[in-house]
Amino acid sequence: MTARIAITDELPWLTSTRDTLHAAMQGDRVGAAVLIQIAPGSGGDWLARWCAAAVFCTAPTAGAPCGRCVECRRVENNEHPDLALVSPLEDSKEIKVDQVRALAQDLALTSHGGRRKVVILTPAERLNRNAANALLKTLEEPPGDALLMLVTGEPSRLPITVQSRCTRITAPAPDRAELARWLAARGGSVADWTAALSLYGGRPLDVLDLDPVALAGLQRDTHRVLDEGLRGSLDPVETAEAWARDDVALRIAAIESWVQSRAEDWARGRARLDARALFETAEDLREARGWLDTPINKPLALERILWRVAAIGGARRR
Ligand SMILES: [Zn+2]
Repeated sequence: MTARIAITDELPWLTSTRDTLHAAMQGDRVGAAVLIQIAPGSGGDWLARWCAAAVFCTAPTAGAPCGRCVECRRVENNEHPDLALVSPLEDSKEIKVDQVRALAQDLALTSHGGRRKVVILTPAERLNRNAANALLKTLEEPPGDALLMLVTGEPSRLPITVQSRCTRITAPAPDRAELARWLAARGGSVADWTAALSLYGGRPLDVLDLDPVALAGLQRDTHRVLDEGLRGSLDPVETAEAWARDDVALRIAAIESWVQSRAEDWARGRARLDARALFETAEDLREARGWLDTPINKPLALERILWRVAAIGGARRR
């Protein structure tokens, strides 16, 4: 959950999705379960929390939660007695069957406030097979008038039986320029956020917890070193050792954004580069997503990528 986005904040790229969902909820057209399909880190959890607050709020304006009453604040702080948040537990990448069973038991009890109970499952594709099967039972016979919200970027990873029990709504990914302006309105410059987003493009709201100036600096530094590498002055061993000491995932993202720019240069005939080395580097970087969370020897893995980068400059390097 990205706690720093308040219920009353406006996420412009989600306004129409939120309004559609809200109207459906108010018109009783959602049923017991809704599946919110949205790219990770684009505000899906916020949207689900907003809907939960809309259910509980005691002082709504046109049905929209006020963000100030006790009920809204409880939702905001994840301490509302009738709102259950189900996510992978610490140290686990999965939502497990025990969590879903506990949820079913909880849903069987009457709510505290006499309103409906709300459940947010996020990211829902992390439900393991047993958990998904257990959830299916709840979806088939939802207790009371519970509302379950499944937030996922990958609905196809959920069993078709679960998907078919949910009303589906698809939220658009934010446009990067729009997002940079939105972030800059909260602090920082548009230019720094634009650079930060090119590193965190896949999970835009995750940048909120980071310092855009530092991110932009890291990107500039990475691009400078790699540009020098094209002229033959990259030391893959030394650079890999240095870069492995800090956030490797960010470095990989920065290298990716550099490779993308160079690929554009090459495609437009602006630079004579070794296309094969360029695409092999891109391939290595894609593979890197698979090893980032593993105990692999990161200096060595980075070094391998940097040797590829060194080859992009062409025949000047061997
Ligand atoms: Zn309220």
